[in-house]
Amino acid sequence: MKDWSAAPAGFGDAERIAARRLAGAAEKVPLLDLSSQHASIRAELDAAIARVVGSGRYILGEQVAAFEKALAAYCGATGAVGMSSGTDALLVSLQALDVGPGDEVVTTPFTFFATAGVIHRLGARPVFADIEPDGLNIAPAALAGAVSGKTKAVIPVHIFGQCADMEPILDECSRRGVAVVEDACQAIGADIGGRRAGTMGCLAAFSFFPTKNLGALGDAGAVTAMDSSLLERVRALRVHGESSRYVHREVGINGRLDELQAAILLVKLAHLEEYQSARIRNAARYAELFAEASLAADELRLPAALPGRRHVFHQYVVRARDRDRLVEHLHSRGIGCAVYYPRPLHLQECFGYLGYKEGDFPVAEQACREVLALPIYPELTAVHAEAVVAAVAGFYGRRV
Ligand SMILES: *Cc1c(COP(=O)(O)O)cnc(C)c1O
Repeated sequence: MKDWSAAPAGFGDAERIAARRLAGAAEKVPLLDLSSQHASIRAELDAAIARVVGSGRYILGEQVAAFEKALAAYCGATGAVGMSSGTDALLVSLQALDVGPGDEVVTTPFTFFATAGVIHRLGARPVFADIEPDGLNIAPAALAGAVSGKTKAVIPVHIFGQCADMEPILDECSRRGVAVVEDACQAIGADIGGRRAGTMGCLAAFSFFPTKNLGALGDAGAVTAMDSSLLERVRALRVHGESSRYVHREVGINGRLDELQAAILLVKLAHLEEYQSARIRNAARYAELFAEASLAADELRLPAALPGRRHVFHQYVVRARDRDRLVEHLHSRGIGCAVYYPRPLHLQECFGYLGYKEGDFPVAEQACREVLALPIYPELTAVHAEAVVAAVAGFYGRRV
């Protein structure tokens, strides 16, 4: 990439900007660049890995315990339990609330598959409720309408790094005696009304899949909670339900976080706030650049932090007119982008037995037709952001 700070003497600001934009227009931009993030902390990662290799202890040792403590402190939760993945974190959270056959669990149809998959796996029935058009999170009024006498829990998902509208959800659930499990897999460090993701529900699930804001070098996850007895139950459930050596009051899973991943996550957690600030800065930069492109609201709508919330931009998801052709256009210009999610969960074949049909959740279905994630990773440069905006603006016949 050219270094335009070294533009020839005599270059005025306008020319410098024009030159950068030209360079930007030819720039290839990946959707995500994990190797550059890891290159910048490579020595720390190597040392952490070497420590574990030399320790002789690879399962549930010091690293997991230290990471659980650091994660709980970061979130402001009473405690955290390291898990093998976000999916297993969701699974044991529901199990710790005794969710099983005959129960219903209400959630959003606009989420990653795992949110509803774990409900089904416990023999309970997923019940969906539509989302809000602005934040794309479950709509409190729709959720209230979906809660029945059989509802054991609800799972609000903090989608793309922004918290669901938790206050009305928590009010409704406490009034009706229903437990709340936060799916915080995309939202570490997000908050609403000063309360952080992972501290609002009975339990919360986090994922450290490599592409998440805090990513391991493999699969990893965690459960956080404010209630110590629920944490103890989750701790037993992650090791086959073993509460003390060879004592099993219930059947759990093998769902532990590895020492190696815990050591890596400890290194990366210390850098997480830098990464979060960079994502937030990149979102602000997009807002400025897209404003210059003067696209109409029916062409492109940008994501925004809703009032009272810290949005950590796990994904930067725009709503685009003619989305599928825009995807082709961007890919042909070397700009990474992806559709999260192209199909709502109520229309997945495996959930056909639930009896939902197209039109049941119109807001989620429309989102699936319009959403597009643009590159927002912390290492994204200004030139890259300009290239993305130039390519999107070009698709709608504008120039920036
Ligand atoms: C990533 C993710 C999960 C699952 O996490 P894994 O670690 O991949 O098992 C669950 N829910 C949501 C919303 C996610 O984004």
